[in-house]
Amino acid sequence: MKANVTEKGAILLGKYVACDAYEKTRPLRVVTHAHGDHMNGLGQSLRNCDMVVMTPATKDFIDVIKGPRFLSRGNVNAIEYNEPIVYADERLILHRVDHILGAAQVLVEDAEGMRILYTGDFRMSNTPVIESDILVIEATYGSPWRTRSFGQEVKQELISTVEEGLQQGPVYVFGYHGKLQEVMQVLHEARIEVPFVMPERILQISKIHRKHGARIYRPLFSTKQKFQTTLLGDERYVAFHHMNRRNKVGLGEFRVCVSGWEFNSPCRQTGEKEYVVALSDHSDFKGLLEYVKRSQPKMVITDNYRAGDAEGLAIQIRKQLGIVAKALPIRNTIPTNTAS
Ligand SMILES: [Zn+2]
Repeated sequence: MKANVTEKGAILLGKYVACDAYEKTRPLRVVTHAHGDHMNGLGQSLRNCDMVVMTPATKDFIDVIKGPRFLSRGNVNAIEYNEPIVYADERLILHRVDHILGAAQVLVEDAEGMRILYTGDFRMSNTPVIESDILVIEATYGSPWRTRSFGQEVKQELISTVEEGLQQGPVYVFGYHGKLQEVMQVLHEARIEVPFVMPERILQISKIHRKHGARIYRPLFSTKQKFQTTLLGDERYVAFHHMNRRNKVGLGEFRVCVSGWEFNSPCRQTGEKEYVVALSDHSDFKGLLEYVKRSQPKMVITDNYRAGDAEGLAIQIRKQLGIVAKALPIRNTIPTNTAS
């Protein structure tokens, strides 16, 4: 088989490439982007693979998340989009994808001219569709009911919710790496003129976004600086924190969580001063089907390793588009351990 997904989450393309998890039989490892569930076994890949491939922005991102020495223990090849690598009788190309900074979709062309493509995580709106023969697609929102009934108004909702909060004092925004920086851009472009305050790591990641062209021109402050100076006299600022800190910081303050797991409304109130805004960096169900349709593959594999509904998506691809589709790896739903 020319494409597969292993039990450990490696997306195998052609004969040599494993994306997003370590696979000992593959000399080339690709990291599609810097989210944790796409960096599985990266240390092993750095030790054992001939080459670990990613975009320069993803490399910078990982340097901040894991420390600058982490990647230096392997042979990392940071390549730009559309810059092919030839390995033996196959060709590998990274294409741009709309997800987080540096994210890529991966195309392998084999000796017979077969085009084997992995989308990685993506949001349909600004993702170029690549034609393929075999397509491996993410399935985060693979269920038909994971369809959003709203579009661009999410950004306006985000802006007005933050503006409302700022009338009372500071606003705490919680989200994942990459998403937080998208919020910074949205607020910056909306001319929300208050300081942005964040922990050191988020500050470093934001600076990398800037280096790679993100429109975050506002001076950014680390949380430490905020307490060391009297700069923020009027206490109106936006604080940015990783989602996993939401039960620890900004308790009792005006809080906004940005999450893709919202489908009915662009903004939902979840507490007295707490909101969830449906800013997503993944395609909804409709977007996933649209990608498949336009890529025109002969066969589709849906990623059944990462969170989502790969089996539901495969069923709908077969039913609605008439294309052979299966979810891999196959999940054994019958419990194997029945010991009492
Ligand atoms: Zn991701």
